[in-house]
Amino acid sequence: MSVYDSLDSITEELHKCMKCGNCMAVCPIYKETRQEVGVARGKISLAEYILSGETEMTKGMGDRFSLCTTCMACNTNCPCGVRFDKIILAARAEAVRKKGLQSAKKIAFTALKMQRVFDFGMKAGSIFQGIALKNIPNRHSKLARMRVDVGIGKEKVFPMLSKKTLRSEFPEVIKVKTPKMRVGFFTGCMINYFYTDIGRAVIAVLRENDIEVVIPKSQACCGIPASVNGDVVSARTLAKRNLRAFERMGADALVVACSSGGTAWKHVFGELLENDHELKALADKWAKKSYDISEFLIHQVPFKKEGLGRVARKVTYHEPCHLNRGQGISKEPREILKSIPGVELIEMKEPGRCCGMAGSFSLVHPDLSGQISDRKTADIQTTKTDTVATGCPACRLQLQSGVENAGFDEEVLHTVQILAESYRVGRKN
Ligand code: SF4
Ligand code: SF4
Repeated sequence: MSVYDSLDSITEELHKCMKCGNCMAVCPIYKETRQEVGVARGKISLAEYILSGETEMTKGMGDRFSLCTTCMACNTNCPCGVRFDKIILAARAEAVRKKGLQSAKKIAFTALKMQRVFDFGMKAGSIFQGIALKNIPNRHSKLARMRVDVGIGKEKVFPMLSKKTLRSEFPEVIKVKTPKMRVGFFTGCMINYFYTDIGRAVIAVLRENDIEVVIPKSQACCGIPASVNGDVVSARTLAKRNLRAFERMGADALVVACSSGGTAWKHVFGELLENDHELKALADKWAKKSYDISEFLIHQVPFKKEGLGRVARKVTYHEPCHLNRGQGISKEPREILKSIPGVELIEMKEPGRCCGMAGSFSLVHPDLSGQISDRKTADIQTTKTDTVATGCPACRLQLQSGVENAGFDEEVLHTVQILAESYRVGRKN
């Protein structure tokens, strides 16, 4: 039985918890709130009360389960091996089954399933975004703030919507002269609509390594925003659509440059579809050939070192939770950075501590998200670097917001952008 179908599925996981409180030491929510409900142990107790029938899943309970960035730090610090990531997903899905989805989330996830409508909305948004967003001068990126506080954090800095989506900028198949491999690129929403610069860097690096790139136009959102918010129906619809889109085009491997998207392809699609024999087999097949871009470049290609040009950057690396703890990828991005001539890698304190973004968490709990971000920003500042590299567009957004608000001139990039820059310089020379 999947965690998405019943709260009973986590009974065993709940029984493993001996209430030692070790999770308190690493929980970013507990660090800020100092409240038992913020930490894994507190939410485990709530789930136990609900399962035993001592209390009901009320709206208030659902709100308490929203207090988690799903960073998985508690998983790794738990002496009993409690998989809290499974508990929180099951609890949120139960909250939606019992109390329904909040209207704003219902509208957002419905739009995500209607790809043409969503594309049209984003296109219109890219034209009229100036009405809601005010440009802020920044020499590295096009950034903006909300003109009016709509309750998602007045100080939050956003990237501007791209005038042209990544998927409309490129053909479905990008050919190279002598292809070593044919690779599908799952762009994810943030790279398709906002951070097209990351997408262009992925494509440039793959082409530089003689790889044919396939970008199915019919791919959709990875569905992680829906699954972590308990909307299992929407998450399943999106998982099926993505599997069919890539199966139709065919590829030797699939690459992702977003940590949530990578988790979806490697783990979540299979779990969501485990009751459908045919789709589960398809999800498992693609899970085996899905790679984060850094993992792919280190272990599958490996990427060309000749032709790399000098990039004079002092770089610190922030580890996305769903890349590091979710997929076990930590040394690969560092290996890439260390291979680039001129790059000096300087580690920050606790590079794997959550940045506080966590998708919709930062919109639902903007103040808390901001406090968690402030700690990360302070750690970045002490490295005295000029660049933060990371492996996820959502972390990039949060880190950009943090450094912009702290008023220091740090550029925030995806690791693959720095590699693409190095190839670019190499070609010029
Ligand atoms: S560290 Fe593990 S066993 Fe201890 S309270 Fe937290 S979840 Fe329970
Ligand atoms: S997943 Fe992260 S935020 Fe959620 S309870 Fe565990 S440590 Fe805290």
